[in-house]
Amino acid sequence: MSAHHIAIRSIVAAPLLGESPKGGWSAEIKPDDSVHALIAVHTDAGITGFGSVFTNGGLVEAALKVLEPLYLGENALEPERVSEKLNQNTFWMGRGGTLTHTISGIDIALWDILGKALGQPLGRLLGGIYRKRVMPYCSVLMEEPAAMRVTLARFRAQGFRAFKIGWGPFGRRLDAKLDEAIVKAARETVGEDSQLFVDAGASDAYWPNGLRWAINTSHMLAAFNVGWFEEPLKPDAIDDFCELRRQSAVPIAGGEVLTRRQSFTSWLTRGAFDIVQPDATKVGGISEQRRIAWMAEEFGVKYVGHGWNTALGVAADLQLAAALPHVDLVEFIGGSAYVDGILAEPFKLDAEGHLEIPMRAGLGITLDPAKVARYSPGAAALFTQPAA
Ligand SMILES: [Mg+2]
Repeated sequence: MSAHHIAIRSIVAAPLLGESPKGGWSAEIKPDDSVHALIAVHTDAGITGFGSVFTNGGLVEAALKVLEPLYLGENALEPERVSEKLNQNTFWMGRGGTLTHTISGIDIALWDILGKALGQPLGRLLGGIYRKRVMPYCSVLMEEPAAMRVTLARFRAQGFRAFKIGWGPFGRRLDAKLDEAIVKAARETVGEDSQLFVDAGASDAYWPNGLRWAINTSHMLAAFNVGWFEEPLKPDAIDDFCELRRQSAVPIAGGEVLTRRQSFTSWLTRGAFDIVQPDATKVGGISEQRRIAWMAEEFGVKYVGHGWNTALGVAADLQLAAALPHVDLVEFIGGSAYVDGILAEPFKLDAEGHLEIPMRAGLGITLDPAKVARYSPGAAALFTQPAA
């Protein structure tokens, strides 16, 4: 090892199980389903970087085996180059899917290593610090109106001042009156002083609605001062997104299912979104997300990160929020053990409902090995350097 080269010695994954939050999916996630995994990159300098991947842990482990010959011995201080090497050399192996999701976690961990090696917060290494705090919006699943009120009142009492409700019955019962009653209950509960967003979750299986529904629904949402309408159409319906954006009464958000920077080009050039929501744990990592966010900036499209699925995804989003000129929100899932229950010092809202962006080295957060072990039988390997 020298100051200019820190070699990757091994990369291990630990699936998270037992407390997986519901997704509101029509085939609902069960607590023991593995849909999120943590990644650790071990190096010959004794520095370990951590990342997070949104997919099944077994798929991540399989992807690591495929990628291993490409990353072993590589320089952990060069995240963008190493991630691009993994991208370029797996074009025929399932680009955009499990491999890209897994590369995302590796890339986040490599940036963490670079920050730790240099003693700098990631936001600075990504170009500079525009802000040191940002508002998390509390993301919760839609429920029937009475239950919706109870859930949102609880999170408002915790100090959140921005909320997103989505999935669940919305749009799926083909009952516009129910949809409106849920949004009305939400607006009344969070108050006029809070921001409120609505996520149809049309990337769910067999989404039943089309453009006409989305246009009509946008007018209902405008009456409740909803700040954006997210995934209102099937995720590949780019023509309908463009038309909806022309006719909608509220801003249109989407992009969480897209992976790789190349996929975003047509959505941005064609004007399909007011708000783009790439997910650093799927899209290719911080390297890819930063480029997408800057591309959005050039098109006047607002960028909001979607990496809510673990504390490491949130930490990556916070550093990106620091390093881009116009970020004022990050997604934050309400009540997830994988966010609130794995850090030595959990995220805490300030009096105005903001999160402080850590200015410690790397991602700026510390995993608690004992806490991670509660949700992952393989957790020990994340924190143990491989034998020499
Ligand atoms: Mg969403």
